[in-house]
Amino acid sequence: TPIPDYLVEVLDAVAADASGAVADYIPELAQVDPDQLGVVLATVDGAVYEAGDCAAGFTIQSISKPFVYALALQQRGLEAVLDQVDVEPSGEAFNELSLEKGSGRPLNPMINAGAIVVHTMVGDAQDPQGRCEQVLAGLSAFAGRPLAVDEAAYASESETAFRNYAIANMLRSRDSIVEDPEDVVAAYTRQCSVRVTTRDLALMAATLANGGVHPLSEERVVEEWVARQVMSVMATCGMYDSAGDWISTVGFPAKSGVSGGIIGALPGQLGIAAFSPRLDPHGSSVRGVEVCRRLSADMGLHMMDPP
Ligand code: GLN
Repeated sequence: TPIPDYLVEVLDAVAADASGAVADYIPELAQVDPDQLGVVLATVDGAVYEAGDCAAGFTIQSISKPFVYALALQQRGLEAVLDQVDVEPSGEAFNELSLEKGSGRPLNPMINAGAIVVHTMVGDAQDPQGRCEQVLAGLSAFAGRPLAVDEAAYASESETAFRNYAIANMLRSRDSIVEDPEDVVAAYTRQCSVRVTTRDLALMAATLANGGVHPLSEERVVEEWVARQVMSVMATCGMYDSAGDWISTVGFPAKSGVSGGIIGALPGQLGIAAFSPRLDPHGSSVRGVEVCRRLSADMGLHMMDPP
């Protein structure tokens, strides 16, 4: 079957599954059409295959985390970032209030605690406004087009970000962040509120898979070691408390977000993105996960399979 027809078949196969629920702790996310469903594959040599609602916009949410981690690594170097945020799977939910025993660092950059610290490591520490612009510019470079913040989603999440304030205060108490916790949460929330399409996410993932070079713009966004580090951490921590099940059954680095997006990155091969707003208990898209499972099985994408 040609790839575009195959992608339509995959969407048809999962379309009837209406299980799960849209995130409602962010009021704006509860308003979206839960039936949206899309998938995009982007190869490292620039072929893009799409099916379903792949041009619909939604907020990037936690899928921003691996990319902002990449920007911090690129700017600060591996050691400086590891010094602040470890790379150990937490086995816990994305919004857990937890720090590593002993070192006191957030366990990894894919959970909120780590991502909030990583956000503050981009750009000039004295210039939080400029930092937000750098984060947006960096995400745009990964996507290969100018992205923008969804102001309604940002305002909505800001009104209910109590848990992230708790996390930021915990981080402030041990100087993991040194700015006002409320300001840092506001900036991190803007990062999560950047509006993308499924196509954007597939190209962002393909840029990682391509060692940091965007497959269409051919711009080098980050160095190869950065892409390797980011995909490694996605493989072990990207799916939070289902990371072990994910890597053993689906077998490629991935990251999900509460707006219903999910990405996969296959080093040297392709970027995958799916979108469907209803979430499972881990906070990952029910049908997005199922689309990835099918792609992995049908296309032989599990990285531990012999070539
Ligand atoms: N902005 C969301 C939060 O911080 C992102 C969470 C997610 O997508 N898992 O709660």
